[in-house]
Amino acid sequence: MNDKPHLAKMRRLMREALIEAEKALSEGEFPVGALIVKDGNIIARDHNRKEQTGDPTAHGEILVIRKAASLLKDWRLPGCELYTTAEPCPMCMGAVIQTRLSKLVYGAAEKRFGAVETTAQLAHHPMLSNHIEIYPGILELECEAVMRQCFCRPAQESQRR
Ligand SMILES: [Zn+2]
Repeated sequence: MNDKPHLAKMRRLMREALIEAEKALSEGEFPVGALIVKDGNIIARDHNRKEQTGDPTAHGEILVIRKAASLLKDWRLPGCELYTTAEPCPMCMGAVIQTRLSKLVYGAAEKRFGAVETTAQLAHHPMLSNHIEIYPGILELECEAVMRQCFCRPAQESQRR
């Protein structure tokens, strides 16, 4: 595979996830945005909504997985790709394991809850399908910058995640 167009496509899609992260920030949420992409098209997009919903499971990744499953009328999401601006937490990796997604693309590593490789290494766990491709660090700096805007407000941040 020629890597260049492949990377350019992932960066273009990550920019859309970043737009969602910015929305989260403006709504007082921890800024993580997520997408589900199928056949090159965004079929679901959302961001963290824990504060607005009072739902501890309302992470952007979970919300887009639910939307995509509902749209496709199937809990299995083979051929679907999850884009998220931050490394998924253990809960979201649990959802990734359940869905049989074919690709996970994320931006910034997450120091406290990142469960792909930072605090737990689920990327290498036998529960995860061998068929999933994982691409960390796509638009990493931009994704980190959005999160840092939230970290500038430590009193709020400590309550968010
Ligand atoms: Zn999560």
